[in-house]
Amino acid sequence: MSLSEIRTRIAKAEADAGRPAGDVTLIAVSKMQPDDRVEEVLKEGQRVFGENRVQEAAGKWPMFRETYDGIELHIIGPLQTNKARQAMELAQAIHSVDRPKLATTLARLAQEIGSCPELYIQVNTGEEPQKAGILPADADAFVAECRGLDLPVQGLMCIPPVEEEAALHFALLAKIAERNGLAGLSMGMSGDFEKAISFGATHVRVGSAIFGARD
Ligand SMILES: *Cc1c(COP(=O)(O)O)cnc(C)c1O
Repeated sequence: MSLSEIRTRIAKAEADAGRPAGDVTLIAVSKMQPDDRVEEVLKEGQRVFGENRVQEAAGKWPMFRETYDGIELHIIGPLQTNKARQAMELAQAIHSVDRPKLATTLARLAQEIGSCPELYIQVNTGEEPQKAGILPADADAFVAECRGLDLPVQGLMCIPPVEEEAALHFALLAKIAERNGLAGLSMGMSGDFEKAISFGATHVRVGSAIFGARD
């Protein structure tokens, strides 16, 4: 598939959901993709990218930024506290705020640095033990805790369990966001971004459908 096809499908999903064109931000997930593929997508005009690992992001994006203006980088994978500063200096958004210790670290660093990327709280909607994220039952309290730390919380993020109907998880995330007055919903990947848009996703994270399978 190509970037333009994905954009067309997003536009159609926006229209089908009665949402304005351009309402949804496409995050092109470039993790583990060869640099030449990433560069092709940059040449097609895409500027918002997602990376899982800070290390990998730091290895490619400063280089691309020398050539391409207006790149916006989103960290979407688990973040260790000892990588938080690097993530904050590199990225415009972090979608994986998933525990109190990370929130406290981000708050302290935001004071030191004088700015903070947009933050999304990851909710483990499937309550999967191996998956990161705040449990749904703890989400309201964690949102309040982050706000108490003056963190710029924009919204929520989830990764539905592979075996389950994603719609249930998108609906749950949307409900938690709404009752907490959060506008941002980071949900939907290659296989289900249209469904996520119908449930109100503001940011879809699409990797393999744009770039091809990862090695
Ligand atoms: C890899 C990844 C994606 C993209 O997955 P695709 O199925 O390739 O679209 C989205 N979100 C997160 C958190 C990821 O790690």
